[in-house]
Amino acid sequence: MTEAISGNCDVLIVGGGPAGSSCAARLRAAGLDVMVMDRRPFPRDKVCAGWITPAVVQTLRLDTEDYRRDRVFQPITGFVTGMEGKRSRVVDYGRVVSYGIRRCEFDHYLLMRSGARLALGTSLESLERRPGRWIVNGALEAKLLIGAGGHFCPVARHLGARPGRSELAVTAQEIEVRLSEGERRACAVRPETPELYFCADMKGYGWCFRKGDWLNVGLGREGGHQLSRHVAAFRARLIADGRIPESVPEEFHGHAYLLYSSARRRLVDDGVMLIGDAAGLAYPQSGEGIRPAIESGILAATTVLGIRDGRYGLRDLEPYAAAIERRFGARAAPRRFTGLSLPPPLRQGLGEWLLGNRWFSRRIVLDRWFLHMHEKALVG
Ligand SMILES: Cc1cc2nc3c(=O)[nH]c(=O)nc-3n(C[C@H](O)[C@H](O)[C@H](O)COP(=O)(O)OP(=O)(O)OC[C@H]3O[C@@H](n4cnc5c(N)ncnc54)[C@H](O)[C@@H]3O)c2cc1C
Repeated sequence: MTEAISGNCDVLIVGGGPAGSSCAARLRAAGLDVMVMDRRPFPRDKVCAGWITPAVVQTLRLDTEDYRRDRVFQPITGFVTGMEGKRSRVVDYGRVVSYGIRRCEFDHYLLMRSGARLALGTSLESLERRPGRWIVNGALEAKLLIGAGGHFCPVARHLGARPGRSELAVTAQEIEVRLSEGERRACAVRPETPELYFCADMKGYGWCFRKGDWLNVGLGREGGHQLSRHVAAFRARLIADGRIPESVPEEFHGHAYLLYSSARRRLVDDGVMLIGDAAGLAYPQSGEGIRPAIESGILAATTVLGIRDGRYGLRDLEPYAAAIERRFGARAAPRRFTGLSLPPPLRQGLGEWLLGNRWFSRRIVLDRWFLHMHEKALVG
């Protein structure tokens, strides 16, 4: 049931995920009156593997000692990579190169520390544009509206997005289960080395990922064609190979999102901006979306804070769209999920050969595509 909201605020952010909370925190720190609305009460779960890179920790200025005190914060020092059903290899970095978090904990922590006023369990139901302000759900007035409601964000729809119709999305399914002590001892997947298995047609990949007592298994692919069949086959193979326990349920949870290279959503209009998945920003080869969500929230806040007269017209907000292009590149050249833009037979053969190559697995697949080591953290 949606809770009623009323009154007014400078900025209304729709969506309390990492994009919304990062943007809110920056705006609040500068003294703006910010409200974050989310249709779900928090803590809430989010379909996600929950893998983040050190750049995310740095950008968020996460107090890791405080965070890990009563939350899962799994250091990752390497990866197992391979193609489904073929030989895999271990790439060991000998140092921490990533972390595993649980989204129900991570998103809640960030939202609470943002300092914004919260309207949780409240869905965006109506939007009305009046000169210089928005009327939301018929009762709340906001000078600026920021859409951070994920792939199906209602603000993005207001700006013309048609999820599921004109956009090629990544669709993914995952499940996160708590392992018993016996299952933890028997599970072949090591907590510090998550496993990544690319699909034979290189249109996606599956993962199994341990974080503390939890095991997360999932698979994502370009487009939704036969996703459930791929997921069921992946789960069955992991069980048959003794990687995960038989007790991992068959019912996975699904979601969709856009890769930056294929998204074409309008990012700003008069009095409104889109950030995170609502804007379609996930990294093309890995599908990592938390880092771009957080960075876009901060870039949006930087643009807003540069506006001195409190009027948020299209012209005033356009620098945000330009900042996104500077950070993530021009959208002109579509690149594929998993990075191989080739006809299917070539993709498969080349994919198998490249993933068998130690240098390529480490320097390209992991260092560049998955860890984005060449891109410094956004700070400031
Ligand atoms: C299976 C899967 C695995 C993934 N694994 C990873 C990973 O390991 N690492 C990584 O970096 N990325 C991963 N991603 C991508 C990542 O989850 C997203 O890119 C990220 O969550 C985007 O954050 P966001 O804040 O933009 O949106 P979200 O986290 O989706 O938050 C949007 C919020 O908006 C709220 N909302 C929606 N509609 C409304 C409404 N009408 N009114 C009010 N509120 C609303 C929702 O309740 C939600 O809380 C994965 C995605 C999937 C599907």
